[in-house]
Amino acid sequence: MRHLEVLQGLSRWWRRGDPVPAESREVLQRRWSELPDSARTPSQVLGRQAVGCEGTHGVFPRCNLTCTPCYHSADANKVRVDALHTLTEVRAQMAFLRSARGPRAHAQLIGGEVSLLDPQTHAATLEVMREHGREPMSFTHGDFDEEYLLSMALDAAGRPRFGRLSFAAHFDSLMRGRRGLPRPRSEAEVQEYRERFSAMFDRLRRVHGVRSYLAHNMTVTPANIDEVAEVVRECLSRTSFSMYSFQPAAYVGDARRWREDLSAVTPDQVWAEVEKGVGVRLPHDAISFGDPRCNRTTFGWMVGGRFVPLLVDDDPRDLRARDAYLSHLGGMQLGGIASALVAVRLARALLENLSQLAVAAGWLRRAVRRSGGVVALVKGGVRPMTFVMHVFMDADVVAPAWELMQRGEVSTDPAVRAAQERLGACAYAMAHPELGRTVPACVQHSVLDPAANARLRRLLPLAVVSRTP
Ligand code: SF4
Repeated sequence: MRHLEVLQGLSRWWRRGDPVPAESREVLQRRWSELPDSARTPSQVLGRQAVGCEGTHGVFPRCNLTCTPCYHSADANKVRVDALHTLTEVRAQMAFLRSARGPRAHAQLIGGEVSLLDPQTHAATLEVMREHGREPMSFTHGDFDEEYLLSMALDAAGRPRFGRLSFAAHFDSLMRGRRGLPRPRSEAEVQEYRERFSAMFDRLRRVHGVRSYLAHNMTVTPANIDEVAEVVRECLSRTSFSMYSFQPAAYVGDARRWREDLSAVTPDQVWAEVEKGVGVRLPHDAISFGDPRCNRTTFGWMVGGRFVPLLVDDDPRDLRARDAYLSHLGGMQLGGIASALVAVRLARALLENLSQLAVAAGWLRRAVRRSGGVVALVKGGVRPMTFVMHVFMDADVVAPAWELMQRGEVSTDPAVRAAQERLGACAYAMAHPELGRTVPACVQHSVLDPAANARLRRLLPLAVVSRTP
């Protein structure tokens, strides 16, 4: 009898351990079917591995730094940060994302400056996001003290509230008002602040056992493009950031903060500077998140100070390995589930795809060789690393493109039609439960934010003391 129960239990785990559960398959298929033809390429991961990233909006619009440019609408800073509003809105947006986009996704807690939330509300908001299957990443300017970090990461008894925290930190010389550095004149002056930020999280891990995933975000304009390579070089050797994300500036948000000719910087120029800083080519054609005009991504790892790409986009054998993974295991998620379930998913992934072992082994051999061999890997240690570029669109092209899309029309203007294709393949969605839909972040910032923030300004005027949940 006992044996029978054990066997039944194992069989239940085995069934639950489908590498790609039915609900994930369904939401992925739906996302794939929504993509424009231009985005249905072999490198596309939307609709095959992920539904895309998500972000909150209108949950704390205010920020206490001033960047040039700034993507927030002019009214954002006139809205008070209000704990009850934040929690209520985030819960509604996450519940919608869970129902519309499936059990698992990465979501940014973003809108204004997250550290203006009191630490308890910040922590409670992350918990709400996790409850809805979202892996949250707090988006910050990084100008907060270690005391703040400890109060949100630890409970009243000093025990870790989270096993791991994710932060995306925006650091560049276009930001004004940072404590101790109100008007940076160069990226070099900002470096000390990047390192201090990273060191806080190193101590959090060492002293309290809370791990972190840190992304470094940088807006790039003609004013700082020549310093990008040096920022990358310095950060790679002196900080713990695991992702570097670059945003060539666009004409979106607060027009009072557009000081330069932002169109003078092209995505190719920015990527070339990042490559100069890393010291190797960053192959980005093997994987597409949405439209390549919006996003470039290179996954890989550092070995002894050298970057090694996960996939080399001009090696047909690597592309075959990618295709095999996406066809057989695309959509497999191992985050946010019990370790026993991870083990079962991996076991099933292996046993059900034995025919692909030779392709996987070939990729592994090449990856080890690229890393300098087994000895280099053991001696140098492996540190996962990702380089990303996200190219927002100008508001004056997003607005007409979106308006036509609402009417089901395709523009005859090539620039607007290109924007429609990019919006259709958007990799960065924001939830509107009241409308029963998501919208691309470009649409949120270019079209919806001005009216939303004007409304929030009336609902949450600055003069009133914040309500607690
Ligand atoms: S938010 Fe805009 S730039 Fe980003 S992926 Fe979506 S459409 Fe492209």
